[in-house]
Amino acid sequence: MINLTLENLPGDLFRVLFEKSPGSILVKADAPRFTILAASDAYLKTTLVTREEVLGKGFFEVFPDTDDLHDETTAREVFTKVIETRKKMDVPVYRYDVFEPGTDNKQPHYWSCSNIPIFDGDNSVAYILNTIIDITGEVKAKEAAIESENRLLLAAEATGLAIWDLDIPEINLTFSPQFGSIFGHQAGTLITLADIRNQVHPDDMQNIVLISYYESLVTGSYFYEIRIFWPDKSLHWIRIKGIVLFNKNKEPIRMLGTVVDITENKRDEIRKNDFIAMASHELKTPLTSLKAYLQLLETKLSGTTDPFIKTAVVKSGNQVNKMTALIHNFLDLSKLEPGKLQLTRNTFDINQLIGETVSESRLLSNSHNLHFEPSDAIEVNADREKIAQVISNFISNASKYSPKGSNITLHSTVNDDNVQVSVADEGIGVKLKDQEKIFQRFFRSEEEGLKNISGFGIGLYLSSEIIQRHKGKIWVKSEQNRGSTFYFSLPL
Ligand code: ADP
Repeated sequence: MINLTLENLPGDLFRVLFEKSPGSILVKADAPRFTILAASDAYLKTTLVTREEVLGKGFFEVFPDTDDLHDETTAREVFTKVIETRKKMDVPVYRYDVFEPGTDNKQPHYWSCSNIPIFDGDNSVAYILNTIIDITGEVKAKEAAIESENRLLLAAEATGLAIWDLDIPEINLTFSPQFGSIFGHQAGTLITLADIRNQVHPDDMQNIVLISYYESLVTGSYFYEIRIFWPDKSLHWIRIKGIVLFNKNKEPIRMLGTVVDITENKRDEIRKNDFIAMASHELKTPLTSLKAYLQLLETKLSGTTDPFIKTAVVKSGNQVNKMTALIHNFLDLSKLEPGKLQLTRNTFDINQLIGETVSESRLLSNSHNLHFEPSDAIEVNADREKIAQVISNFISNASKYSPKGSNITLHSTVNDDNVQVSVADEGIGVKLKDQEKIFQRFFRSEEEGLKNISGFGIGLYLSSEIIQRHKGKIWVKSEQNRGSTFYFSLPL
């Protein structure tokens, strides 16, 4: 603590130094008057008074409106406390409005001040050094930040979104008020990351959350829909979307994003899927008997010489096959709820499977030249039937979207730890801007020429779901009017 008396100040030098110091005023501890002994230029400038007006006057004569005894941060309270306690006292933020230079208007200003006792010879407080800093800029910036955060929160909550932020090293989860209600908690309940994890459906934790977490460490973002259990045991759906932030060493330090309750949409979707499942199932029965009758007819007519009847029966058979494949796709689509599309894994040779699928496709239609040169056996552990579905979907698209008589070439290769299968055609190709979208549900390219080609935009979506469930990858490389190559890879 400073321990000097005014009398032993080395005169002018210290007075000049004091007067040049930022925002200081020195008052005598002669309560209740608090006579002003010195004031710095900066203090006078910010409080809009002259040195002549203040020197020798009582502090509260000069600044009467700071003399509000109801607030313990006011000058009189603080000065009195400094004398009583003999200790320095800071007031980190207080408001004192001052006139804007050249106007009659007072504007809100915020100050931070420090009050230092100065002792005399017999160690009692003789003076108080009051130093002020104008922190209006900082306070306003903070107010603006709070306001913008509040606005963001309000907007988010109006749309049912909750915002959350996870400090990864500290395992500290913070969130907006809506977050708790999305997880079925009463307002104000303390929720930890462990509580949230326990609420996630165990299948989705394993198949979606953990996988997405590891993927997000590479991609920097995540997006998924999962099931959670509320404390009352009811099942709800949520959609989580966000980003991961990394430090300089590329270690993840923060994850933040939004969460929204999508239970109603999901229930709707489930009802729609149930309807599709039921309708496809009902359609399958008459189709199966139609197919059986056509086969009987084909046998009965084997002796006929009428070429029309022969081709008509074969073509009807092909149409029935097409319809059966479509209905199967719809049935699969309805099974795509998490946990519903189950994989039945076996170990098999993927080259043999490609060979079989190519032969079946040739049987169904000979409109294109299918090429496949199988190499040595490549054993994979996967759902054989579902992988066959993906290959056959690639082949049927290749023939749908390329001219009759053109080539369709299949390849299989082993890279490091995965097997890659490709189907290349010489068709219309896929525009760059559509290449990401063609794997989405119900997406069909809007090119004029494509209007007459029938389809529902579910084949590639199903294929991509099947491959993703196998933890594999699916993609396309294509140039418009030159052809496309569709790929998938499976971990070995
Ligand atoms: P569908 O063929 O029934 O429309 P898909 O999901 O199989 O549904 O394909 C989605 C879209 O991708 C198609 O509508 C088409 O625009 C595009 N597409 C798929 N395969 C090819 C291909 N081999 N060549 C060009 N476009 C393709």
